[in-house]
Amino acid sequence: MKLFDLSGRVAIVTGGNGGIGLGMAKGMAEAGAAIVVAGRDATKNAAAVKEIQGLGATASAIAVDVLKEDSCHALIAETVKRHGRLDILVNNAGMSIRKQPQDFTAAEWHKVLDSNLTSAFLCSQAAYPAMKKAGAGKVINIGSMMSIFGAAFATAYAASKGGMVQMTKAMATAWAKDNIQVNSILPGWIDTALTRRAREEVQGLHESVLKRTPAGRWGIPDDFAGIAVFLAAPASDFVTGAAITVDGGYSVQG
Ligand code: NDP
Repeated sequence: MKLFDLSGRVAIVTGGNGGIGLGMAKGMAEAGAAIVVAGRDATKNAAAVKEIQGLGATASAIAVDVLKEDSCHALIAETVKRHGRLDILVNNAGMSIRKQPQDFTAAEWHKVLDSNLTSAFLCSQAAYPAMKKAGAGKVINIGSMMSIFGAAFATAYAASKGGMVQMTKAMATAWAKDNIQVNSILPGWIDTALTRRAREEVQGLHESVLKRTPAGRWGIPDDFAGIAVFLAAPASDFVTGAAITVDGGYSVQG
């Protein structure tokens, strides 16, 4: 179906070498997009590329550290050089430092904000000229339940993910005239490397998530294939500035 067809499109997924990013990359690959996996870890990058190619799709990796502005710019430039275009940017790379607010150092605060929020700003800004020139583009930003809620251990993370939603709205407003749609996805609790560590560090987290999630389970990376395809495809051409929860109902449970 043309509405969900990504044939001929080129997508970058930061943090696409595992977890939610890889789930989205695989979905878009199955819909026909060529994928650029952008992460720091070369071994994880290579494994993800192999997995995506195994679906019959075009995929390659570019090593990137989104904490560095020049690395973000090089990612976009290299993608355009390789493929001659850039249609879809998924700002998914992220991390967390779990501490009470009074225990954060300024360096830790900046690391979380820079990894999760500033990186998305820099990559989007770098991607804009190619998308504007093409007359179309899709930017997909990954937020969190912490874009909506707070948690004692998530001061910097919640600030970054709340900021992601507001940045999405501002960019959507600015770039709508260029036919570039900018949306965010707010995942619930998903079983990945990130939350495996959280479950070790935060007592009772596993059970409390299960209890509060109406779907009665943790999410899995494959749960993000469909929403990624929708937000990357013509089906969402009049959807911009939205924050879409993919959380098994976690955020609507009273
Ligand atoms: P993972 O830890 O599996 O993925 C994080 C990804 O980010 C990795 O691929 C990692 O690549 C990449 N990354 C981190 N820092 C950098 C950096 N400086 N430069 C380049 N890449 C970087 O966790 P998830 O899949 O869970 O997380 C993906 C996104 O989803 C994050 O933004 C996270 O905040 C968000 N999210 C996750 C939820 C969950 O429950 N799992 C819930 C809500 C939001 P590498 O290892 O190569 O550096």
